[in-house]
Formats: sequence, C-alpha cells, structure tokens
Amino acid sequence: MKDDFLGLTIALSKGRILDETLPLFDKANIRPLEDMNKSRKLIFGTSNPNVRFLLLRASDVPTYVEHGAADIGISGKDTLMEYNANVYELMDLNIARCRLMTAGIKGKTLPNNRRLRIATKYANVAREYFASKGEQVDIIKLYGSMELAPLVGLGDLIVDVVDTGNTLRANGLEPFDEICQVSSRLIANPVSYKRKLAQIQPILDILEETIRGH
Ligand code: AMP
Repeated sequence: MKDDFLGLTIALSKGRILDETLPLFDKANIRPLEDMNKSRKLIFGTSNPNVRFLLLRASDVPTYVEHGAADIGISGKDTLMEYNANVYELMDLNIARCRLMTAGIKGKTLPNNRRLRIATKYANVAREYFASKGEQVDIIKLYGSMELAPLVGLGDLIVDVVDTGNTLRANGLEPFDEICQVSSRLIANPVSYKRKLAQIQPILDILEETIRGH
C-alpha cells in the first residue's frame, strides 16, 4: 500500500537530530519548503521535487525505513541498538553525539541483596548490558523523563543518553557507567538502496564530503 510519490522519502526526527541534519542536507541542495520545527505537518516537500522529508518520533524512524515507507532515514545509534531493525547502516554522520549511560541518585549505595531495578526506555540495551556483566536485572519500561524514576523510588538506576550531564545533575543524579558512545547514522531500506541507488548515492557522496570537512 504505497502512495504514488516516486522520489526519495527521507525519515527524520525532531530535536537535536533534525537541527544537526538539516544543515547537512542543505549542502546537498535539499531544503524543506517550510520550517519543520514550527509546522504541524508530518510530510514536507523540499527544494528538490524528487525528495521529501517525513518528521517522526525518533524511535519510529527505523520502523518506517525497515518497511520501506521511507527509503532512507537518520537515526541515533541508541535507537538502532534498541530496536534492531532490518536496515542498512550506511554512514556514521558524527552528529548528535552523546553517550548511553547508567545513572542513579548521587551518593546512594545500591542494594546488594536483590536484583537491581532499571528504569529505562532502552529495555533491550539495558538487559543485554547487565547480562554481559553477568547481572540479572528487572527492567521497568518507560517512555520518557527517566530522570524522575529513581527520585520517586521507581528503579535503582536508569539507562539514558547523556550529553553534558546537566539534566542528571539538575535532578540530583550522577552518571555511573558508560554503555557506549552514540551518534546519528544514515540508514536505508535494503530494497530502496538497490532500486534507488542512483538517487541515494549522490546524496551520500555530499554528506560524506561534508562530514569529512567538519
Ligand atoms: P544533557 O546535555 O546530558 O543534559 O542532555 C539533555 C537531555 O537531552 C537528556 O535527558 C538526553 O535524554 C537528551 N539528549 C542529549 N543528547 C542527545 C542526543 N544526541 N540524542 C538524543 N537525546 C539526547
């Protein structure tokens, strides 16, 4: 059930990724026709009539690309690790850099007589991380504002992305262990990548050149 747009559909998400991605596409002469931060639209035409942008929730980008509803997309490595979608990871754009970390209440000792409870939206990543250290944990799945959870007794630790650490500190939390480094990746639907390579490749070339020049 595809619509009749024959060009290239690119999935993006609001926030830091959008703010740091649009200047990259600008170099490839692809500019949204409206301010994507202000409009309520979800589909945006661009200065290139053969390219359109979708504006999605970050965690939905891999799903749209996996199912071919978008041909390519930009997604954080954190999201890709969590959802493990069947997509090609074509390029590390080296933008929206941050770290996936465990964090908890500053100065508080963790219980050692029971399983730790981890509040996070990164349920799979967290489970695998603690399993790799030989620790069985209970995961409490959340969808946002993870910093709140330990303050009100929901979980001993959180797993979240951290940039400056200001949000943690503002809530009396401190970062503990780094799980991995995160940056945004250009992903592609495997079929689109083959069928639309002639459209995708010139964009890849410009993005690569731009990133290398950074
Ligand atoms: P911080 O600079 O550590 O205070 O980060 C502020 C908030 O933005 C944190 O709660 C993170 O969840 C979020 N954040 C920071 N960097 C990124 C990023 N690269 N991608 C997605 N979310 C981010």
